[in-house]
Amino acid sequence: MREHAILSASGAHRWLECTPSARLEEKIVEETSIYAEEGTFMHELAELHLSLYLERMPKSQFNKKLQEMKQNEFYTEEIEKAIQSYVDIVIERINEVGKDSLILLEEQVNFSPWVPEGFGTSDVLIISGNTIEVIDLKGGRGVKVEAQDNPQMRLYALGAINGFGILYDIEKIRMTIIQPRLDNISIDETTAEELLEWGDMVVKPRAEMAFRGEGEYKASDHCRFCKVKAICRARAEENMKLVYLDFKLPPLLTDGEVAEVLLTIDELKKWATDVEDYAFKKAVNEGKKWTGFKLVEGRRSRIYSSEEEVAKKLLDAGYEEEKIFSKSLLNLTKLEKELGKKEFGEVLGSLIETPPGKLQLVPESDKRPEIKCSAELDFKN
Ligand code: SF4
Repeated sequence: MREHAILSASGAHRWLECTPSARLEEKIVEETSIYAEEGTFMHELAELHLSLYLERMPKSQFNKKLQEMKQNEFYTEEIEKAIQSYVDIVIERINEVGKDSLILLEEQVNFSPWVPEGFGTSDVLIISGNTIEVIDLKGGRGVKVEAQDNPQMRLYALGAINGFGILYDIEKIRMTIIQPRLDNISIDETTAEELLEWGDMVVKPRAEMAFRGEGEYKASDHCRFCKVKAICRARAEENMKLVYLDFKLPPLLTDGEVAEVLLTIDELKKWATDVEDYAFKKAVNEGKKWTGFKLVEGRRSRIYSSEEEVAKKLLDAGYEEEKIFSKSLLNLTKLEKELGKKEFGEVLGSLIETPPGKLQLVPESDKRPEIKCSAELDFKN
């Protein structure tokens, strides 16, 4: 079980921007999510495979442990394949630098010279020649995580310099995020000098403020995984600004005002959902009564108590199979999972098309290229 620091590396993108957030989060009891548990399981499975490859575990012990892990509720073929592709990439990297390099798995790194009580666990740490490489497995399939300027990766690298800088003459830093379920490999490189400067000039002063719980609350994208996101006043105020937009006459909104609403609407929706989830959980789990609200039962829909018995009864009664069963092709994602990526491509490659996605109106900061819309644009295509 991994321990957690008050100023964790994974939360650094948040407490570096909103310094009082870490202390505020302490007031909330930690809820383990199914995603976090699945992530922990994936890390353990990856460590097991890499330990075997690095001959740090006899095959018999590996087999025994793997059998145990296969009984775990999180073990699936899909997870095994995802971990295998992560492990293959790491092994490729190990082979490039040579097995005689210093290779550490699940290594606790200490970055407390820059962050009070700061430590974290690096999935894979490789020190070869004058280079430190930090590799991180991300098990999620929601949002792509980039290595570029990623404070979590940078703090792990600082921890590695802190731990091994005396023994090795480190000059280069390489940081790799592997997110196998999204086919995402993201790499960032920097120098030890630049990283140490960032640690001293940016991290240290903000981390000290964060540890004392001082500084300004600042709501932004980083609120997404903050434990107080539903009840944080600063975030509420930021979102309520939309409600108080100072609209002027005439009676119809101007283009500029519509654009202003569009800019804030995404964040406003997320915030509203967070508040709704928070209030719902409190009502269900703690019997909390919110003024003006009550819990009710949603619309009921009928279900079969046993599909097997229904089918048997109908067949016994003489109904034909075609009448009671429907047969349909698995959707593309499920079929690819079933066949495996390679086989899927070989067998069905020529039959797969990628029609253009639906048009979306997004903020200019979005990384996708802009599509110029004209009267001739054929929306059907
Ligand atoms: S919700 Fe956002 S603004 Fe509020 S404490 Fe957390 S990070 Fe800061």
